[in-house]
Amino acid sequence: MSQARLASCVPLPLENKVLVNVIEKAKDWALMHGVGMRDRKHFNKDVIQIAPFVLLPSPFPRTEFMKAVELQPVLNELMHKVAHDDQFLEQTLQNALQVDEFTKNLYDIWVKVRNEGITQPISLGMLRSDIMLESRCPHTENKCGKHTPYCSWKQVEINSIASGFGHLGPVSREIQSYILRSMGYGDIIKNMPENRALSGLCAGIIEAYDLFGVPDSLVLFVVEEVSYNICDQRFHEFHITEARPDIMVIRKTLCEIYEETELNDKKQLLLEGKPVAVVYYRSGYEPAQYPSSREWDARLRVERSSAIKCPSIHYQLAGTKKVQQALAIPGALEKFMGAGASSGRVRDIFTGLYSLDFDEAGERALEMAIADAERFVLKPQREGGGNNLYGEDVREALLRMRHSRERAAYILMERILPPLVSGYVVRPGAPVPPPLTDLVSELGIFGVIIGTKDKIYSNRQVGHMLRTKLADANEGGVAAGLGALDSPYLLDM
Ligand code: ADP
Ligand code: MG
Repeated sequence: MSQARLASCVPLPLENKVLVNVIEKAKDWALMHGVGMRDRKHFNKDVIQIAPFVLLPSPFPRTEFMKAVELQPVLNELMHKVAHDDQFLEQTLQNALQVDEFTKNLYDIWVKVRNEGITQPISLGMLRSDIMLESRCPHTENKCGKHTPYCSWKQVEINSIASGFGHLGPVSREIQSYILRSMGYGDIIKNMPENRALSGLCAGIIEAYDLFGVPDSLVLFVVEEVSYNICDQRFHEFHITEARPDIMVIRKTLCEIYEETELNDKKQLLLEGKPVAVVYYRSGYEPAQYPSSREWDARLRVERSSAIKCPSIHYQLAGTKKVQQALAIPGALEKFMGAGASSGRVRDIFTGLYSLDFDEAGERALEMAIADAERFVLKPQREGGGNNLYGEDVREALLRMRHSRERAAYILMERILPPLVSGYVVRPGAPVPPPLTDLVSELGIFGVIIGTKDKIYSNRQVGHMLRTKLADANEGGVAAGLGALDSPYLLDM
């Protein structure tokens, strides 16, 4: 059976002459509006190159898009509750902690600050729920009797730390609007949903800053040694200082935080003599970002402080793959959300998620995946892309880990097979015109939630991003060079 396909927004293929012409313009537009990244191969801080982007917006069914947007506040609240349920986190992570040092280090910091007494009860969640349409349906007709090339969407994961593309998401809509206009298709731009992710995310930081309520305090961005995705990060910074000239934003690595900050007797995190109001992590989600004990000490110091953290360490733990899998166990959602309609709506977005613990369910999952590896993705407790295993590698890894405790650090997930879309991917340094290729998309919906264990101050959906990759690629990280920036073109089907 051939894979289902969604119709493109304009008739394809485009004529070569048209393509060459529009790509040249679009690349310049990209460079001049921050559709860019730093070059990994020939790194030079003074140079930004275009980020890979899909020339025309990719089709996405309007009803499914709206469903995702409307569900986001429900997911925000779920994550908030999970992050504040000490017992659930402990139970869920206990097996993984024995074999996964990174998660264990995070967990130990959390236990330590809890035992000392939480200094700052307010957390800032800037989440991104990543989803894909599922093309394999048990039924081929939807409720109105229409034939659709997709079933509904399923959640890939929810990110609770360094959820990027608040700038690159919206600007992808802008560049593709420019391209459509310059090709004479300005009238269809109305089908590209507005995207205010950048201002929405920054409003979260600003609101947290005001809740902190200390004049002349700082916003601290925790960044990598080298930020390849610099446009995305800097535009957040530019937006905050433009919206609120009284707020000073400072970027520091974990190592610099170790060297340059201290806690005063009120547990304020002091940097350059000023208290830090909000700490926004764009780093700190993978082991390589903690090369020595200094980075871990810095993380502990921040966690102990009165600064409002995005995320607090328990929020980061709530964003682990293991938690996602545990929430899919029958009865788990009801515990957080009651037995009403909301639990059902969230359950519907889960694809098969299985633990690989040493128990009956774990054994069953293991055997199932060894027998039919192509159906699954094997995921460790990691973020940032490039860590998952697919296809034959799943079988090999499971055979190797079958009798080892190591397997408890992984979860098994059913592979989602999205419908194909046709498109042109423009990449830095690649020949022009690019070939017309089969692509698949992953939509990310942003949410902001601010609150304490008992009180939620704000909870909203704030925008989206779309990443698109070659249909036969396993992963689609844009910064990793696999995926491309894109934005949805809503289809009424
Ligand atoms: P990470 O935290 O590294 O981003 P993800 O769970 O988001 O981990 O997986 C990385 C990428 O792998 C996703 O962006 C998606 O392209 C692909 N992927 C992950 N899970 C699935 C799945 N169940 N089905 C299909 N593709 C998946
Ligand atoms: Mg991901």
